[in-house]
Amino acid sequence: MKKNIVGEIMKYDVIVIGGGPSGLMAAIAAGEKGAKVLLIEKGDKLGRKLAISGGGRCNVTNNLPIDEIIKHIPGNGRFLYSAFSVFNNQDIIQFFERLGVKLKEEDHGRMFPASNQSADVVNAMIRQLDNYQVKVMQSTTVQDVIYNEHGVSSILLKDGRSYDANALIIAVGGKSVPKTGSTGDGYAWAEKAGHTITELYPTEVPLTSNELFIKAKTLQGLSLRDVELSVLNPKGKAIITHKMDMLFTHFGISGPAVLRCSQFVVKAMKKTKGDVTMKLDVFPDCNQEELFQLVVKKIKEDNKKAIKNILKGFIIERYLLFLLEKADIDENEQGGTISHEKLRQFASLCKGFLFTVNGTLSLEKAFVTGGGVSVKEIHPKEMSSKFMNGLFFCGEILDIHGYTGGYNITSALVTGRLAGVNAAAYSQTIK
Ligand SMILES: Cc1cc2nc3c(=O)[nH]c(=O)nc-3n(C[C@H](O)[C@H](O)[C@H](O)COP(=O)(O)OP(=O)(O)OC[C@H]3O[C@@H](n4cnc5c(N)ncnc54)[C@H](O)[C@@H]3O)c2cc1C
Repeated sequence: MKKNIVGEIMKYDVIVIGGGPSGLMAAIAAGEKGAKVLLIEKGDKLGRKLAISGGGRCNVTNNLPIDEIIKHIPGNGRFLYSAFSVFNNQDIIQFFERLGVKLKEEDHGRMFPASNQSADVVNAMIRQLDNYQVKVMQSTTVQDVIYNEHGVSSILLKDGRSYDANALIIAVGGKSVPKTGSTGDGYAWAEKAGHTITELYPTEVPLTSNELFIKAKTLQGLSLRDVELSVLNPKGKAIITHKMDMLFTHFGISGPAVLRCSQFVVKAMKKTKGDVTMKLDVFPDCNQEELFQLVVKKIKEDNKKAIKNILKGFIIERYLLFLLEKADIDENEQGGTISHEKLRQFASLCKGFLFTVNGTLSLEKAFVTGGGVSVKEIHPKEMSSKFMNGLFFCGEILDIHGYTGGYNITSALVTGRLAGVNAAAYSQTIK
């Protein structure tokens, strides 16, 4: 074993850069397979982003069937089919339960630690690193990755130290929320090995709008439950629709339905080179005619009352008043005196209020980075580079992105597991 004068090991079977979910899983898997592993993390804590996922409760995976999981990873989810045949969401659940972390399922299949403590998940992974004697260096930044004519050679730290490796796993994440340590350091190392970095863009990100009602903060702070939000193409056809909650903010819109629509807005804006129209349906479970008839029936029951009182509780009040105004109906007008034409217009707005968005918050503020190391250049069952011997990638640095809800973390843990197992196997071949 190569050591320096103070007895420190200078060469490892596998070096993992990045202590997020993908790097932690990779280091554990490589350790489990008997490799001598070094895990290097820039920050003073392991799994920082993992710990803040799922509203700070750590959304470790999702319990939906594999086909559904893939559908919820619109950024190259299909690339993961082979990986899932080796290690999948059910394996993640078993992995944590074996480590003593009881999980529970919540809405939309989201899996959390039963304790609601993200520390339980992170600490269980850290204990596994210990069990496999993985050497962990925290507060240590990798500055560069060195390759030679045979493949991976060594890594160079910011403080000038360097370590040799038979196999190297780059697990440094994307560029979103850089305060968690993910600052996009890995892209240059991938390019140096000949890899293509597909265009980076924000996904799972709030949307901005120049609409007057946004600028005037008319609906700021209003949240709507279980609405249907669509991104429209220039012909008015829905590119994507999501039925979830949403929120109006001072700059535009946010909330789960918006985050899911955001990547489709980014792509549509590229094509249109301008604003994109969104459609909001607050009555997704009935059609426009049924809705109109319901309004007429409600008015008939008490036609002398002001329309705003007749429709009290029909939709949340701020949005009701907003739509009445848009339909040119005075909120204090007696229900019975309002023309059917205006009521039809109101029903139509309830089913499809159209407004434009003109962008997203920055990549740094996005939950997830779109784009990354092209998956065409990665062996899908190994997570190894097609260009450089001994080089592996896992997690968000890859051009894979899913919706929030445990899909990105599933992708990180699954690709991490494969990278770790295969990096350990590769390191055996060159001993
Ligand atoms: C607020 C928030 C909530 C989220 N919620 C969800 C959710 O509910 N469900 C879901 O599926 N996904 C969620 N995500 C996304 C998910 O957390 C990420 O996709 C996932 O953490 C990516 O894992 P990773 O291991 O690839 O990278 P990261 O978790 O980003 O980890 C990369 C690590 O590499 C380290 N590193 C970087 N450069 C260097 C270097 N030069 N030297 C050494 N170390 C380095 C970083 O410090 C970091 O610790 C959320 C993200 C955010 C920001």
